Amino acid sequence: MVNTAEKEQTAESLDLFESTQVIIKEALESLGYPDEVYQLLKEPMRTLTVNFPVRMDDGTVKMFTGYRSQHNDAVGPIKGGVRFHPEVNENEVKALSMWMSLKSGIVDIPYGGGKGGVICDPREMSFRELEGISRGYVRAISQIVGPTKDIPAPDVFTNSQIMAWMVDEYSKISEFDSPGFITGKPIVLGGSHGRDTATARGVTICVEEAAKKRGMDLTGARVIVQGFGNAGSYLSKFMHDEGAKVVGISDAYGAIYDEDGLDIDYLLEKRDSFGTVTNLFENTISNKELLAKDCDILIPAAVANQITEENAKDIQASIIVEAANGPTTLEATKILSKRGILLVPDVLASAGGVTVSYFEWVQNNMGYYWSAEEIAGKLKDNLVNAFKKVYDASEQHRVDMRLAAYIVGIRRMAEASRFRGWV
Ligand code: GLU
Repeated sequence: MVNTAEKEQTAESLDLFESTQVIIKEALESLGYPDEVYQLLKEPMRTLTVNFPVRMDDGTVKMFTGYRSQHNDAVGPIKGGVRFHPEVNENEVKALSMWMSLKSGIVDIPYGGGKGGVICDPREMSFRELEGISRGYVRAISQIVGPTKDIPAPDVFTNSQIMAWMVDEYSKISEFDSPGFITGKPIVLGGSHGRDTATARGVTICVEEAAKKRGMDLTGARVIVQGFGNAGSYLSKFMHDEGAKVVGISDAYGAIYDEDGLDIDYLLEKRDSFGTVTNLFENTISNKELLAKDCDILIPAAVANQITEENAKDIQASIIVEAANGPTTLEATKILSKRGILLVPDVLASAGGVTVSYFEWVQNNMGYYWSAEEIAGKLKDNLVNAFKKVYDASEQHRVDMRLAAYIVGIRRMAEASRFRGWV
């Protein structure tokens, strides 16, 4: 029997998956592709479900369920993160793998999209148990992943330590050192400079480009960042360093807002490793209230389905840059677009992470490593170019930035599939 919470989760995830299909269909139609191309790309070519045992600290053995979804490998190997979260489910992982294809297409890196996840709550597990899950998951999916097949990376609640355990486990299975098996590793294990801040850097570049389009000066601009995890916390810092005034932030438990600007350095010092900080304050508001507060730029950097048909009319910002995956529903996108709000979609704005992951993989393959400055320069070129392509496509096709991003993102995959003779 499915309880109510599970039912709600499934319905929500179906929406994510289905709305992704709706936009992919629209994008392929705008490009003039026949329906068979849509039939090929409307869902992942492979999704593996695994169940694996982990011995817990109390001596008992617990079974965990995980997934790895691979959208399409016409362009190149599969690439995408692995999340550890209690709400991971198959449909969400499938939708997220399709978004990774779009991201790779938009920033022009030679991958197809993938995503993985394990149903678990790292907030309630010890270091040793987390290591067991990381190694158990790699063993379970080892048949379908590898440096030239499918390259995992960090995602929600996974980090460089988890990538280190995973690469170590894979190196044992494959019997040779395989740094290119996974990205987001610690630098001493072949990680890249700038990978930990890459998503936030990419979002910051998109904020700069969007502000230029709107003639907005970032100095003094009022910014709200929803979420204080890896992306949200670095982003608040980068916005603050650019001279913007961060007036609101939030975590999973609530939000704080101050029109005079928040003390970002203090908040960064006080946050825990899961991004929790609002528990230290008394006058908190809800995440929903935060989204409707006065600001110039709104950056949703938390979870999916935050801006919906109900609250889209309350948004005060004139620019929204999506750092999270899927924070705005399709209906809300339409409302915001009608209201003249410039929305930079997730598949473009959050592509900085996979871009630097690509640089990490390239460095692993050639065995030669670039400096932090070189990585920052390459990331900037890539993202500025991607923003321009999406913005130009939105003008050329007279569509919103989300559909434009899908048009740019799906084109190469459709072309590669055609050249291979698949469709
Ligand atoms: N998990 C990140 C994303 O959703 C990064 C994926 C990667 O680096 O491969 O974009």
